[in-house]
Amino acid sequence: MSNNEIQYSIIVPLYNEELVVNEAYKRLKAVMDYTRESYEIIFVNDGSKDRTVEMTRKICKKDKNIKLLSFSRNFGHQVAITAGMNNSSGNAVIVIDADLQDPPEVMLKMIEKWKQGFDVVYGKRLKRKGETFFKKTTAKLFYRTLKSMTDINMPVDAGDFRLIDRKVCDALKSIPERNRYVRGLISWLGFKQTGVEFIREERFAGETKYPLKKMVKFASDALTSFSYKPLKLATYIGAIISVFSFLYMVFILFEKMFTEFTVQGWTFIVALSLLFNGLMFIMLGIIGEYIGRIYDEAKGRPLYIIDEKEGF
Ligand code: UDP
Ligand code: MG
Repeated sequence: MSNNEIQYSIIVPLYNEELVVNEAYKRLKAVMDYTRESYEIIFVNDGSKDRTVEMTRKICKKDKNIKLLSFSRNFGHQVAITAGMNNSSGNAVIVIDADLQDPPEVMLKMIEKWKQGFDVVYGKRLKRKGETFFKKTTAKLFYRTLKSMTDINMPVDAGDFRLIDRKVCDALKSIPERNRYVRGLISWLGFKQTGVEFIREERFAGETKYPLKKMVKFASDALTSFSYKPLKLATYIGAIISVFSFLYMVFILFEKMFTEFTVQGWTFIVALSLLFNGLMFIMLGIIGEYIGRIYDEAKGRPLYIIDEKEGF
């Protein structure tokens, strides 16, 4: 390693994190100084509306290891991580949340594995503290559904908290996808991967920056970019309905020809038409999700717009 080469790049996305940014800096710095190797911490301000950017700028001015990348508006967590990676130069890159839910000390374990020759070291959450029952159950369900719907080998219960080697980071940069599910793309890349287990802490301060709306967008990005199965749903449902329809047709023909019953099926017909209309709209919605994403790709707009760069 030459003198001016950076060993580690730590990427920290920030969205309205004025309550945690100073503490995050302190904890990250303590851990990274402990390695006695060179490092840069890249804070990516994802269009915060509070004092996050002023506070980070201040840290940047007094510590040359700190860099700031500031977006012109909120582009989303996954895009913020991507921008950090694109602007990093370390031999190993670590992505970590600002809110200290991912304990910085775990980075040392990741570095150890990297030095043993692994290219990707992801953090596997054994337990999540201080999160709602809703968040924990939907997350559990999400990772397992996604795994069952894709052919890519993705670890369950692993977030973006992970270390990747420079070559993985460069490979990731070559993927131009817009609606990015970064952790999935890293699994897709392959390389030598392993995990370290950790317990996810409570948020240091403030509230989650992932309201339900962002969670839904996040999950549908993941599912649509890694599986066609939702599209095939129409075929499956159609096939099942056809079988039942045929059986029912045989039944009513039989009734008509060999019995005296008058036809009475009003309730049945209305229920059926409501059900089928509902299914039809769900399928149209699913197709719309894919088409919207195809449209995003076709427009070819840049992934993010940078307003300010400090310390680079
Ligand atoms: N974040 C971001 N842009 C967003 C939402 C979140 O950069 O639009 C950052 C946030 O500041 C934090 C990380 O992404 O560092 C994870 O967000 P959060 O902790 O709110 O999510 P949770 O842990 O509740 O899933
Ligand atoms: Mg968090």
